[in-house]
Amino acid sequence: MKRKVIIIGSGPAGLTAAIYSARANLEPLVFEGSQPGGQLTITTDVENYPGFPDGIMGPDMMDEFRKQAQRFGAECLFQTVDKVDLSSRPFSVWANNEKYSAEAIIISTGATARLLGLEAETKLMGHGVSACATCDGFFFKEKKVLVVGGGDSAMEEATFLTKFASEVVIVHRREEFRASKIMIERALSNPKIKVEYNTTVEDIKGSQETGVKSVILKDTQTGELRDYACDGIFMAIGHVPNTKLFQDTLELDAAGYIITQSDSTYTNIEGVFACGDVQDTVYRQAVTAAGSGCMAAIDSERWLEEQ
Ligand code: NAP
Repeated sequence: MKRKVIIIGSGPAGLTAAIYSARANLEPLVFEGSQPGGQLTITTDVENYPGFPDGIMGPDMMDEFRKQAQRFGAECLFQTVDKVDLSSRPFSVWANNEKYSAEAIIISTGATARLLGLEAETKLMGHGVSACATCDGFFFKEKKVLVVGGGDSAMEEATFLTKFASEVVIVHRREEFRASKIMIERALSNPKIKVEYNTTVEDIKGSQETGVKSVILKDTQTGELRDYACDGIFMAIGHVPNTKLFQDTLELDAAGYIITQSDSTYTNIEGVFACGDVQDTVYRQAVTAAGSGCMAAIDSERWLEEQ
C-alpha cells in the first residue's frame, strides 16, 4: 500500500515527525527499528527536557511520544527496515520481506554507541563489556568497573554506575574532559569515582565464561603498559550514525551523518528528509531531535503539497 509518508526510526525525532505528520492528516507509517524509542530507552532520568521539572525516565518519555503520535493516527510497526530504494518515486522500503512505498520519506534512524574496535571487546560484549550502563549496571553490584570516555555520556554512566559498583574508574585518553562542567562536577565529587587521565585501553582480558578480569592500560605520555584488574568495562566514547541503508544514495559527511540543507531537513534527494541524531553532529539532544522531527514533518508536508 502506498503511503504519503514513511518515517524510519522512532526516537524523539521520528516520533515527533509522526505527531506532526499525523495531525496534518498524512497518516504516517513509522518503522520503529531495532531499538523502539531510540537511545532514550537506554537512559534513566531525563532532566533537561522542558516541561518535566522533576525529570522523567527516558523509556517512559518515549512511550508518551508514541501514544501521542498514535492518538492522531500514526501507525507504528515494530519492524526494522532492511532495504530502501530512493532512486525513483514513489520511494520503496522493505521490512520483514514486505515492500512498502511512499511519496515522502523521513529518516530518523539516529546513531549507535561507538566501540574501541578491539577484538576482545566484541568477544566479551555482554560478558563484562557493555556500551549501556543503564542496561547492564545492575550486573556489577559491589564490583570494580571502568568507564571509557571523557564526554557527558562517560560522566553520566560513571555516576549512574556508582549505584551498583563499589568503584568506578573513568579512563580518558586526554588530560581534559569534554563533558559539561555540571556533569564533571557531579562525577568527580562522587567518592566512588576515580579518574585515569592520559590513558587508553589496549586490550581486555577475560573470557565469556569468567567475564572481564582485567584490562591493559597504556599511559599515552610514557607509553607504559599495565595490567589493571577490574570486573567490567563500559564504553562511552560517542556514537556512529545509522546510515548504512543510505550510503549509496544520500549525501553523507565524512563521519557518515546525513547532510541536510541549512535551516531545513531536505537531503540531496527531493522528497527525502532527515532529522534527529542521524544528521546532527552538534547538539544531539532529545529536545533538538524533537525540534528537527517537527521541521521534517513540516518540510515534507509543504513539499507534498507542492507536488
Ligand atoms: P562525545 O561528546 O563525542 O564524547 C566522546 C568521548 O569519548 C570524548 O571524550 C572522546 O575523547 C572519547 N573517545 C572517542 N573515541 C575514542 C576512542 N577511540 N578511544 C578513547 N576515547 C575515545 O560523546 P558523548 O559523551 O556520548 O556525548 C554526545 C552528545 O550527547 C554530547 O553533545 C553530549 O553533551 C550529549 N549528552 C548529554 C547528556 C546530558 O546532558 N545528560 C548525557 C549524555 C550525552 P576526546 O575528548 O579526546 O575526543
